[in-house]
Amino acid sequence: MAPVAQRPRGTQDILPAEQLYWQEMTGAGDAIATARGYQRIDTPIFEATALFVRSAGETSDVVTKEMYTFPDRGGRSMTLRPEGTAPVVRAYFDAGLDRERQPVRLYYIGPFFRYDRPQAGRHRQFHQFGVEVIGDAAPSLDVEVIALGWRWFASLKLSGVSLQVNSIGDGACRPRYRDALRDYYRPYLDALSEQDRSRFERNPLRLLDSKDPDAVALQASAPRTLDFLCDACRQAFEQVERGLQQGGIPYVVNPRLVRGLDYYTRTAFEFWHESLLGAQNSLGGGGRYDGLAADLGYRDTPGVGFALGLDRTATILKAADIGPAIYAVAVDESASRLMQELAEELRRRGLAVIVDVSSGRLDAKLGRASKMHARLALLVGLQEDARDHVTLRDLRLKKQESIPRDRLLSRVLEMLAAAPAVSA
Ligand code: AMP
Repeated sequence: MAPVAQRPRGTQDILPAEQLYWQEMTGAGDAIATARGYQRIDTPIFEATALFVRSAGETSDVVTKEMYTFPDRGGRSMTLRPEGTAPVVRAYFDAGLDRERQPVRLYYIGPFFRYDRPQAGRHRQFHQFGVEVIGDAAPSLDVEVIALGWRWFASLKLSGVSLQVNSIGDGACRPRYRDALRDYYRPYLDALSEQDRSRFERNPLRLLDSKDPDAVALQASAPRTLDFLCDACRQAFEQVERGLQQGGIPYVVNPRLVRGLDYYTRTAFEFWHESLLGAQNSLGGGGRYDGLAADLGYRDTPGVGFALGLDRTATILKAADIGPAIYAVAVDESASRLMQELAEELRRRGLAVIVDVSSGRLDAKLGRASKMHARLALLVGLQEDARDHVTLRDLRLKKQESIPRDRLLSRVLEMLAAAPAVSA
């Protein structure tokens, strides 16, 4: 008999072998946010549809075609949350956090839902780590938030991440920029897709992140937001740049970076990864959303935050996980020569072996071995009969055993076979 159901399109099972990466990502999120005074908040998985329609602006793709919206049994329209910022801002006011000392620093980790066309890096249920700093418009908070995201990637040892920043101005200067964009695109309207023609009418900034080839060709010479900033926005952007420089955070000013949601003001940023090409190159992004609270019907209140995608980050962590098979450590100096010999022997059989001859505590070295995603640690000199026995430790299972030297190679091969690399 055939199974009655399959996993819904665009969803995934996060299997035991992958939990390691998820624990790393969420653990780093908790630790880094908490250490900076951010407090965790969990909002409901579904909310009244109006929360997202109002906040995303009726022109954005998320609202027009990507929401999981359903009537509940009481006839109210509900939506599975497509993003985290609007719910957090709602909760901030609901709980009276707006009356506490400002700004309020919050973070969240959890699933989100968008009825996207599933493809690599694009799921219908995906996961984000996000932070929001609400109640203060200081550009130094933009820097704080960006630095927190940067630190998160760094703590995962993810290389190849680039930070893209831009300012998209505010209510004072954006109208002028919008006009300039329309003037630029108007002569080419006939060449644009229907969707881009509608963007031209409703939200021309979004022409800058259109993926349609005709629109892409026009993007290079389009007017730049930065040339249209009012004095206040320009000064804010300069402060953000200075803050990043002082923090030693490398960044690229990307004048074509705009955010898909309409409530963003001033700073917009994204974290890109070199391995993610084309449309899905973003690991996450965020920006300032000083217009959101008022859009939602609350008192005008500034905010800044980001959302980083855990699913795409997991894919990259996994792909990078081709660490050495073996991490070899001499427990004391007298064993180091023997360890070099054994390492050579294993390498001759084609195994990747890293030899750690640094001084330092054994558990620190084992920690390094795990961070490098080594699968086995070879400890030489741990036993009294070090000439005859060595210790092999499975770094995933955290189990070790003492084995006679002449059985080393065969035992290594057995253990590697029993604990295949996660990426295999
Ligand atoms: P956004 O909320 O659109 O700014 O997205 C922030 C990050 O969340 C993106 O850079 C992705 O890493 C991730 N993300 C957004 N939508 C999806 C999706 N449909 N599938 C997987 N990841 C997503």
